[in-house]
Amino acid sequence: MSRTKVQACVYCGSTEDLTIEHVVPLSRWREFKLRRRVLDNPSNRVIACHKCNAEKVNMPPAQWFQLHPEYRKRFIHEARFLSNRVKELTGIFL
Ligand SMILES: [Zn+2]
Repeated sequence: MSRTKVQACVYCGSTEDLTIEHVVPLSRWREFKLRRRVLDNPSNRVIACHKCNAEKVNMPPAQWFQLHPEYRKRFIHEARFLSNRVKELTGIFL
């Protein structure tokens, strides 16, 4: 028996109005001393619902997870494919 995984928001788990979200906002590449292409890359992209995406806007990931500690557990489980640098910037992979 196999199960097809339903796509869901990596933050709140919603399965509605899904969008592509950059964990570290593209606009912050200078601030985090990264090359822009490191952020404009699948290793920084996750699926998030429109509601989370609209609330997070260009917030740094660490700030987002401080605001929503309840989203940490799901994100850690779902976001194993992200680059180590992106994970580090979330401040929740320890
Ligand atoms: Zn969401």
